[in-house]
Amino acid sequence: MRTVRFLVVGAGLSGAVIGRRLAEQGHDVTIVESRSHIGGNCHTERDVDTGVMVHVYGPHIFHTDDEEIWNYVNSFANFRPYKNRVKTTSRGQVFSLPINLHTINQFFGKTMRPDEAHSFITQEQADTLITDPQNFEEQALRFVGRDLYEAFFKGYTLKQWGCHPSELPASILKRLPVRFNYDDNYFFHRFQGMPEHGYTNMIACILNHPSITLKLNTTFDRSMCEAYDHIFYSGPLDGYFDYELGRLGYRTLDFERFTYDGDYQGCAVMNYGEEKVPYTRITEHKHFAPWETHEGSVCYREYSRAAEADDIPYYPIRQVKEKKLLSAYVELASKTSKVTFVGRLGTYRYLDMDVTIREALDTANGVLDAFEKGNVLRSFFVSVL
Ligand code: FAD
Ligand code: UDP
Repeated sequence: MRTVRFLVVGAGLSGAVIGRRLAEQGHDVTIVESRSHIGGNCHTERDVDTGVMVHVYGPHIFHTDDEEIWNYVNSFANFRPYKNRVKTTSRGQVFSLPINLHTINQFFGKTMRPDEAHSFITQEQADTLITDPQNFEEQALRFVGRDLYEAFFKGYTLKQWGCHPSELPASILKRLPVRFNYDDNYFFHRFQGMPEHGYTNMIACILNHPSITLKLNTTFDRSMCEAYDHIFYSGPLDGYFDYELGRLGYRTLDFERFTYDGDYQGCAVMNYGEEKVPYTRITEHKHFAPWETHEGSVCYREYSRAAEADDIPYYPIRQVKEKKLLSAYVELASKTSKVTFVGRLGTYRYLDMDVTIREALDTANGVLDAFEKGNVLRSFFVSVL
């Protein structure tokens, strides 16, 4: 197969993984990145004063069931064991998340065993009249009942999404389990950990290949396409088309950074379940690296709001209105030759890191395969709508 000239837009996980795959297959890869650093929203950097590794765009914990992807990341970074144990403050007390036996016993002032707690929640708390939950609120009422819902989910979700939980899909809550034992690991996945030297270091290793040319501080524009055979675009889908049909809705985050001399909260993530506290959570970054010791501490108070034109888009909203607009952009994209749209922004979906890497590898392979067979290239290699 001849050497193909690829342009990759974005040096986040998607762009880096795709670039590496193409380069390893003997192709020329140029990556343009508008920011002054690689890593996208996974970017980490050490705070100069305290030495703490800071998750600049919010906390990132790697977790997966996909053994191939776990091996992939471990071939570029040394992963240290890390379990995500989240606490939440509500009604003047600190509780453990996800809702587990400790949370239930503490909240109701009881000493129930697993089967007792199970009967208590399913028979006395859960709203059994709801048989087919249609939204986030119904899902919560169906599975944990009103008391736990109002203490832990209602206020947090109002703050996080800027709308009432009854307007959100049930699928958002399905990501949070309820446990009738004392397991307080936030994630179910088999593999979980933290790259010893941060995500940016790992992504720098992925990008370290002689056939990859990286251009930071370089924003893509469509005139760049001419010089390349094919483009992988991990920027915003609507941005590619200069927002000609309107903007896809996102939530953005504001991080109020503060430092502390010592240990501020004793854990990495403290959620705030009540609406009266204006932020959703506080993250204390040194606790993401429990193998390190630091006297000082760097913390982020996290606030969520609707993204404006100049804000960093974080969470795609994906309500009815946005899905309609998304369909229109997907239609435009499918008529665009030479470009494959990838990643969380290019496909307008929330993607965990392991899924991002899996899709990046599969998409790169799909495009290489199409080039080899002379097939027509597709704009999306995943289902976007
Ligand atoms: P991005 O990281 O957004 O990278 C896209 C890159 O493209 C950016 O660097 C951007 O600057 C660049 N770009 C955009 N437009 C242009 C342009 N026109 N020209 C040039 N460059 C451009 N996942 C987990 O698995 N575990 C977690 O704990 C976790 N926590 C998260 C917490 C938060 C607050 C958020 C928002 C996400 C979290 N994620 C987590 C998901 C994770 O961030 C994504 O999986 C990952 O960032 C996706 O990588 P990406 O390359 O697709 O997108
Ligand atoms: N959630 C909540 N209270 C919490 C944590 C989460 O109500 O203390 C809700 C919230 O709506 C959030 C969803 O559950 O969007 C999924 O939680 P997860 O921790 O997966 O959130 P994300 O990683 O998307 O921030």
